[in-house]
Amino acid sequence: MADGYPAQQQEPPGLTDEMEPRPDHGEESYVGHGRLEGLVGLVTGGDSGIGRAVALAYAREGADVAFTYLAAEEQDARQTVELIEAAGRRALAIEADLRDSATCDAVVERTVSELGRLDVLVNNAGFQMARGAGILNLDDELLDRTLKTNLYALFWMVRAAVPHLRERGGSIINNSSIQAFDPSTSLLDYASTKAAINNLTVNLAAELGEDGIRVNAVAPGPIWTPLQPATQPVEKIEQFGSDTPLGRAGQPAEVAPAFVFLASPADASYVSGTVLGVTGGKPVF
Ligand code: NAD
Ligand code: MG
Repeated sequence: MADGYPAQQQEPPGLTDEMEPRPDHGEESYVGHGRLEGLVGLVTGGDSGIGRAVALAYAREGADVAFTYLAAEEQDARQTVELIEAAGRRALAIEADLRDSATCDAVVERTVSELGRLDVLVNNAGFQMARGAGILNLDDELLDRTLKTNLYALFWMVRAAVPHLRERGGSIINNSSIQAFDPSTSLLDYASTKAAINNLTVNLAAELGEDGIRVNAVAPGPIWTPLQPATQPVEKIEQFGSDTPLGRAGQPAEVAPAFVFLASPADASYVSGTVLGVTGGKPVF
């Protein structure tokens, strides 16, 4: 292992319990300060990784939390529910593959009907698959999965959520990536979706400002989540994060506070249309 992690591989979407070491979602460390008291957040892909850390932090900040997960992620979803409920908040786990617009509509409707409102939409679900570099190796099925999960679903979730967010002036936070700024040839399709997410973030902020809806993105660097052993070759895992100025990968717990800040109606009241990097030192501008 060269400053990274032990060699390991999983099938996508990957599970937390099979990771060595287990990621830190802030279970022992995150302390809430009532920043999101009484709000309702919806986190796509909140079963694991960054999404789980955001769900935990939001709950400890006083929000009820709905989140989506895939059928194969049932055991991760159960653990996230326990973390939200242990914080004394309501949890709503919704099994949903978001590569379908009617499903995105249904996820928002269930959140509002069961938790009563929607204040913060976190578009966190994402898919990547590292492949041999080269446009000639582009696989149509993978391309479709990446673009549908990372981009189409984001449009559909926002369209479904805006009528509810408008009621009190909520916010939208998209999960971008360092790949938007510093793309890897092995992630040609994925990197392009993240650049598009930045563009969409700025454009939506311009459109929705008059409704009092703030729209921002977080751009993480290398973060230790199930996505990595499920989609990167073993050699990448062994060096994961070692090329950052801080010399290591980050934990989901180190990304969640950025999502709390951007969601906070008090702390981030004048912050919209920005991309906040949490990259271990790599530039996002
Ligand atoms: P993760 O595997 O824990 O989370 C990704 C989640 O996306 C999964 O849990 C799954 O529920 C969801 N998902 C995938 N396909 C889906 C589909 N078709 N429909 C609905 N949900 C689907 O990994 P993570 O790293 O926490 O990923 C969260 C976000 O962070 C992603 O958008 C990813 O691109 C972004 N990101 C991750 C890193 C990193 O190094 N881990 C870096 C930059 C950005
Ligand atoms: Mg997962």
